[in-house]
Amino acid sequence: MSKSRNQLEKSRDATFGFIARATESTTHRSVRLIKILVVLGLGMTMELHAGLQRYRDLIVADQDVSFAPPKAGVRITYLGTNAYLLQSRDAALLIDPYFSRVSLFRVALKLPVTSRRDLTERYLPVRRIDAVLVTHGHFDHLLDVPQIIALTGARLIASAISIQLALSAGVPPEKCVVVTAGEKVSLPGATVSSLPAKHDRLFGRVPFDGPIRRLPPRVAGDWVCGEPLAFLIEIGGRRIYIAGGGRPDGALSASLGPIDLVILGVALPDSRRRFGQILEQLRPRYVLPSHQDNFFLPLSRGFVFGPMTDFPAVLRTFRKASNSSQLILVDYFRPWTLP
Ligand SMILES: [Zn+2]
Repeated sequence: MSKSRNQLEKSRDATFGFIARATESTTHRSVRLIKILVVLGLGMTMELHAGLQRYRDLIVADQDVSFAPPKAGVRITYLGTNAYLLQSRDAALLIDPYFSRVSLFRVALKLPVTSRRDLTERYLPVRRIDAVLVTHGHFDHLLDVPQIIALTGARLIASAISIQLALSAGVPPEKCVVVTAGEKVSLPGATVSSLPAKHDRLFGRVPFDGPIRRLPPRVAGDWVCGEPLAFLIEIGGRRIYIAGGGRPDGALSASLGPIDLVILGVALPDSRRRFGQILEQLRPRYVLPSHQDNFFLPLSRGFVFGPMTDFPAVLRTFRKASNSSQLILVDYFRPWTLP
């Protein structure tokens, strides 16, 4: 069993190696054929990664499923990928919302990607949103934001490049707040501090990096990363640090103060290496590994671990690094009130 699992994992790594090499040249016809085979191959390796049931002891959730603002504290609802709804009595913030779930096939073959209004309307739990915070410009963080701003009238807080992409996709300028690392935005009932972050590398480089390629964006690669940000959010009397992922570095200072909850993307090896460092530096009360699900599958499939994730490794790092934090998991659309 473990041997066949190793073989599957090796074939998965080889598969991703193919993607990296194949995407460098787009002119040759055989490249397109390889990509199709790769996508089919990836589909077959996904059986390795089931849902959250194996880790049910770590899952936290309120007794009642309610999306009404809580009377006290902050309620956190996971919406898949790195998307969270944070609600207090006085404020509602949405982070990195992504419901359209473009398929890996579309991304790999550079087919046009579009935000699905039907899915956004179905999955957005509430219409009262004060602000949408976006950690970087990739499609799995920003693609649906213009639809959501239109539905809710919320403000968008993001880096300059993410705002440029969003403006070209129809977000009104008066809704946009450009931030860079080190800036703080005060909202009614919440404050949002933007902090420096570094995006994970995939095969040695940040995917879809560099300057704007096309406006409005058409294919997945047009949703370029821009300046990656982490956020320290003060809401409902709690302090929450959230980052989509990142590379290990010394950028975080311990001067952030006490943190109630860290939400940290662990999709790729870079951010898994950073996971322990963050725990050591911030010593939060709770730590929630994020961006671990397969965001190429529709939300209706429920939580399925992504093909490049390694939650057992995250758990090992956690056990080595921390004895004061509590590691938790949350399932899709199951609110949890942070005590
Ligand atoms: Zn990204």
